[in-house]
Amino acid sequence: MAVNSALLDTIIAQLSASRGVLLVGHVSADGDSLGSCLGLGHLLRGQGVNAHVVSVEKVPARYGFLPGVGAVITETKDFPTHWDVVVVMDCTDVRRTGFNESFLRREDHEEARGGVVLINIDHHQSNQGTLGTAWVDPRFAAVGQQVLTLAERAGWVVMPEAATCLYTALATDSGFFRHGNTSPTVLRDAAKLLDAGADLRLIVEYCLERKTLSELCLLREALSTLTQECDGRVTVMEIPFAVFSRCGVDDTEMEGMIDYARAVPGTQIAVLLRAVQAGITKVSLRSRGNCDVSVVAVSFGGGGHPNAAGCTLHLPISDVRAAVLAAVKQVLSCG
Ligand code: AMP
Ligand code: MN
Ligand code: MN
Repeated sequence: MAVNSALLDTIIAQLSASRGVLLVGHVSADGDSLGSCLGLGHLLRGQGVNAHVVSVEKVPARYGFLPGVGAVITETKDFPTHWDVVVVMDCTDVRRTGFNESFLRREDHEEARGGVVLINIDHHQSNQGTLGTAWVDPRFAAVGQQVLTLAERAGWVVMPEAATCLYTALATDSGFFRHGNTSPTVLRDAAKLLDAGADLRLIVEYCLERKTLSELCLLREALSTLTQECDGRVTVMEIPFAVFSRCGVDDTEMEGMIDYARAVPGTQIAVLLRAVQAGITKVSLRSRGNCDVSVVAVSFGGGGHPNAAGCTLHLPISDVRAAVLAAVKQVLSCG
């Protein structure tokens, strides 16, 4: 796949010249945002660059196996005293990181004088490509794949720790090589990461196989809410707020749940509605074929990819259900 080599060289030069890099992904971290941040962190430190992964939230337990995860900084008091580059990964804008942009740019630091360089590495179609040194390319299945491409361009050694992180990114964003974004290049890149020492056994166990009793409780509750709309073309799942405490889980343990709604034959769009707090509802959308759900997500202030998108609304589940279904039905043209 042809990439803009000059842009990659600019990013490599900015990273290599940095005296301190912060790597940040999106809120409700997934395998791609975390794997890409941690993977690039390993690669940069391998080059002698001082790099730290930061997050506004604690890392979901399921990603506790990723090499380097224990060093993720989740409290601003633990931030390094200096940074001059911030890499915003798997995000269409700084807001998605959960951090304040002026904080990341260190605008209140005399010494930094607002001179912090922002680099945006992302593969979302909805990304306008205006954030700092922006490398946005929706042809990539995962940001982790972009990081591998960057490492190859730079000639950086991909050590096993980085390979495990980047493989996790690529595997999770492609639904373990099942989604439409799984191309021959994706599989070749996955093979390169296995060659580099990615720990496949560990990744499969944590990302696919392990289910805690709490997660299974959540699954049981969620499955009991499955309903169909639009002559079975839309399948909806709901997770009311009370379920989280009943099952002893938080909403970081939701990944993959919507796949059960998408699994039902005839479903063109799957919708998962979950109350993350009373009155705040997160919406996940998945589609089959050429039905673009990112349009629906964007219309509610969210974003994503044509077949996987999401948004968060400050309304109770029932209101969100009505609004989202109306938009979904428009996409499917089924009244
Ligand atoms: P999810 O349903 O949370 O797994 O998200 C599916 C896709 O939509 C991912 O690519 C997310 O990054 C994106 N997405 C989810 N929520 C939002 C949001 N509030 N704003 C922008 N993108 C989102
Ligand atoms: Mn993501
Ligand atoms: Mn991604």
